[in-house]
Amino acid sequence: MDFQTDRVTETSEVGEIVEAPTLSGGRLTPARQTVLQILKGTNLALTHHEIEHQAREKGVQFDRVTLYRALEWLVTKDLAHKVAAEDRVWRFSAARDGSRDQAYFHCTNCGAVYCLEVAPLQQPAVVPEGFKAHRTEIMLRGECAQPTCTRA
Ligand SMILES: [Zn+2]
Repeated sequence: MDFQTDRVTETSEVGEIVEAPTLSGGRLTPARQTVLQILKGTNLALTHHEIEHQAREKGVQFDRVTLYRALEWLVTKDLAHKVAAEDRVWRFSAARDGSRDQAYFHCTNCGAVYCLEVAPLQQPAVVPEGFKAHRTEIMLRGECAQPTCTRA
């Protein structure tokens, strides 16, 4: 790790909005760590809003830009996954065992998105000759079994 690069990243953490280049570097800063802990503490894929809410309940408050940047960083480091369900809202979940594959269950009744254990994946689709698949994302749809599940 280039120390100079790291310092620039740290500076940008509290400063102005910086685009993608600095996201590739950096460490697990307190903000990133908090976000990752929140993601690991649930089997649901969470929206920005839900993560913000949970952080506040833990007594941690960060501005939206810091949260967005922390999430993007976790995704680029394969520590978290990002998925959009039919409502087009981005949700985030912790990566399981560093796996790049992820499976979800979208409850079409209450709108919750659950992270599922990824079964050893057989090739789920035919990839054209010469193509390289890097990750698999599966979205199952149906109704969850939560007693609180009601139509959103
Ligand atoms: Zn449900």
